[in-house]
Amino acid sequence: MAFVLHTPETIKQAVRLQRETGGEYLAGGTVLLVRHAAKPIDGHVISLQGIPELKGIGYRGPVLRIGALTTFTEMHKSGLLGGHFKALDEVSRIMGGPQVRNRGTLGGNIGSNSSAADAVTALVALDAVIRREGNLITCIELSDEKVAASAFAKVGRRNAMAVSVANMAVARMTDGSYRVAVGACAPTVLFCQKTSAVLSSGGTFDEAAQALQSEIQPRTDRWGTEEYRRAVCPNLLERLLAEVAP
Ligand SMILES: Cc1cc2nc3c(=O)[nH]c(=O)nc-3n(C[C@H](O)[C@H](O)[C@H](O)COP(=O)(O)OP(=O)(O)OC[C@H]3O[C@@H](n4cnc5c(N)ncnc54)[C@H](O)[C@@H]3O)c2cc1C
Repeated sequence: MAFVLHTPETIKQAVRLQRETGGEYLAGGTVLLVRHAAKPIDGHVISLQGIPELKGIGYRGPVLRIGALTTFTEMHKSGLLGGHFKALDEVSRIMGGPQVRNRGTLGGNIGSNSSAADAVTALVALDAVIRREGNLITCIELSDEKVAASAFAKVGRRNAMAVSVANMAVARMTDGSYRVAVGACAPTVLFCQKTSAVLSSGGTFDEAAQALQSEIQPRTDRWGTEEYRRAVCPNLLERLLAEVAP
């Protein structure tokens, strides 16, 4: 088998090609091409770059629609994330470095299936809707009517180009409830159901921090230790709660 690159121009064509060939979608390539740096790609790759329907960011009524192929730089520069969706704006501003933000896409962040994917943590807190056709992520929708305020923070081993040792997003919803999500502290990005419930019912910070410790499942890996992750999570929570306070 040799490397075969497909360049569909519509969502339908891309989904059909993937079904027929079993190939991998290629968006910005910051994960896919790095994964294949040591071992050349041998098989079908379906580039999404020629599909205009997957691009762009804009409002349809109270819903902000972000095409899966929208890059982090495009999201931040749009100026549309600054208010309610500040958690995602912050990810778009600080993740990776300028080159990664210029190439990396929101759909690729979700598709990379990483428990440390910064945007996924923000999207979980923001109660985002992820639209798909087949197994192709087409767009992400955020609702102004659901989210009042949000914030995101991460800790890594350095300020730029660093995988999150822990990341967190907190959203205060328009109905007064809270949503807390944590990354890199469990096998997947975690929606912290108990912590969110404590905060939503007016519990104290200490109660919320206790709930948080009971639901994260950090492990020691090459990026950080379990103990460090357990120590840093309540600090992130305290800081983000202050940021989203009414
Ligand atoms: C130096 C460096 C620093 C980084 N720093 C960070 C960081 O700070 N935070 C962070 O979260 N990530 C980071 N990353 C990871 C990466 O840049 C992001 O996850 C980025 O969003 C991936 O997007 P992409 O378009 O490049 O994805 P690709 O590499 O094109 O694709 C990644 C995976 O997603 C799949 N995919 C892509 N688009 C779709 C779609 N629309 N539907 C279904 N599947 C799809 C692909 O098939 C592939 O399996 C970093 C990467 C590098 C190389």
